Amino acid sequence: MITRILSGASFGVMAAWVGIMGLASAEPALGVVDEPPAITVLVANYSQASPAVLAAAEREAGRILGQAGLRTSWLECSVGPSGVSLGDPCQEAPAANGIRLRILPAPVLDKFQDSVFGFAVHPLLASVYYEFALRRAKRDDAEFELPIILGCVMSHELGHLLLGSNSHSDKGIMLPRWEVNQVRQLMMGTLLFTPDQARLIRLEAQTRTKSQRDTRTSISLTP
Ligand SMILES: [Zn+2]
Repeated sequence: MITRILSGASFGVMAAWVGIMGLASAEPALGVVDEPPAITVLVANYSQASPAVLAAAEREAGRILGQAGLRTSWLECSVGPSGVSLGDPCQEAPAANGIRLRILPAPVLDKFQDSVFGFAVHPLLASVYYEFALRRAKRDDAEFELPIILGCVMSHELGHLLLGSNSHSDKGIMLPRWEVNQVRQLMMGTLLFTPDQARLIRLEAQTRTKSQRDTRTSISLTP
């Protein structure tokens, strides 16, 4: 059952995005308007994360991806034995620009490194560990950090799906290991994708969206 649809882009991000698309539209249009770079994330929450925490984490992940010029829509899926319901987006094959994201409990590990964030199975499935974010926030005695950390971890794993293999970098949100500096940046909202990563993310989302549009077109033109 779809319980909520959120757009992750803030007004400021939307303004930046409009600026990006404004530049793109300066090229000859030839009657064809490119789809804006966008993804839809189907979220299945198997953890104890509350709807409020999850919504805040989605807003944070949407903001980070928005800073990279990507629009993100979030669809909540039903989970559990009685969760199958008519219209549940997780019961259907995702759209070409759709990605599945699972919020799972965490294995017990101590280090603040990638293996405790979660994992991604290219190109469509990302998983993050809720309890890792919770434990980290509790360690700082600052539970308000929880949705921020969870949102950053979500962005990191979604980044793996959109950037392909070997997508770790030596700075920004795709660092494989987050030290004190990264946690500080994360809380300041400045742990982001690099400009090169942002460009690749937009390109990948546009490619996925275009492949969906071309599929639709080819179906409609088939005699
Ligand atoms: Zn990683």
